[in-house]
Amino acid sequence: MNLDELENVVKRCGMPRFTAKQLAQWLYEKRVESFAGMTNISKKNQEKLAQLYIVGREAPKHSVKSKDGTVKYLFGVGSGQVVESVYIPDHDRATLCVSSQSGCKMNCYFCATGKMGFKAQLSAAQIVNQILSIPPKPEKGHEPMHELTNIVFMGMGEPLDNFKAVERVIEILTAPWGLAWSPKRITVSTVGKLPELKDLLEKTQVHVAVSVHTAETAQRESMMPAQKAFPISTIMKLLSGYDFAHQRRLSLEYILWRGVNDDVAHADMLVKLINRIPCRVNLIRFHKVDGVDLTPCSEERMQMFRNYLNGKGITATIRASRGEDIMAACGMLAGKDKGKSKN
Ligand code: SF4
Repeated sequence: MNLDELENVVKRCGMPRFTAKQLAQWLYEKRVESFAGMTNISKKNQEKLAQLYIVGREAPKHSVKSKDGTVKYLFGVGSGQVVESVYIPDHDRATLCVSSQSGCKMNCYFCATGKMGFKAQLSAAQIVNQILSIPPKPEKGHEPMHELTNIVFMGMGEPLDNFKAVERVIEILTAPWGLAWSPKRITVSTVGKLPELKDLLEKTQVHVAVSVHTAETAQRESMMPAQKAFPISTIMKLLSGYDFAHQRRLSLEYILWRGVNDDVAHADMLVKLINRIPCRVNLIRFHKVDGVDLTPCSEERMQMFRNYLNGKGITATIRASRGEDIMAACGMLAGKDKGKSKN
């Protein structure tokens, strides 16, 4: 709930208006898990709240830790479905990759989540719960975990296909009554769903990552059916109207597949597509997905591709692969947990 909704709650319960701010503080800043923990609210009012509402916090049902420190969590989201969140420590940063849907409608050819089909939209509460309920303390024998510094909407689902909930989560993360984070700590990754991408650009200041993967139209359509409805050329045209040269960052995501999109011709098509829009390109190693006849390209190819883009004045980096031993690529663990991975 945002502050307006919390104000409605306290009104309904006959409590003073300032109690809404206290509730927000207990929920988001102090992260209590029950009304009984809200010690500056009277016992009587705690009980009244507990009769009508739940706090909605739910611990992950399962977690698995990689030898590189990455931790993957599985959260139950009703009717037996599970979604993944991945905690990625990196020096003084700690990023949480959150899911916005159970399954996904976009059906990208290379993606384990896409193979599950669409199951359900996550509520804002279910997304916020992933952020608030990862254990702040390590399990016995584990390294201490950092406080989260960044959130990326890159887990299961297409965030802009659940924009209302994602927008509300961004509000809770950035509002002074919420977690009071800078929007610069948040990145939303999308295939480029329109018109919601425009809404995201207009209504928020978060960073944006667009999954490109190939600049060749027919090839992108075969890899990402969303290309048909939301052509990458239209997306880039929209993006060219916004300022990504200052506070806000635009990243283009590009998974490299051997013999598919990893040659100079494809690098050149990408350069033309970017057409001087300020952005950085993240080159991503492919994690093999069972039943998908795509293979990762070699390290040399990745470096060649990166160097070609750098030579054209485009910032391109090879993203470090994390958590390979725990299947950290989107959808892989949840698929196994549900026995839904065909592979
Ligand atoms: S890559 Fe993203 S948008 Fe495509 S199917 Fe997977 S989760 Fe959905």
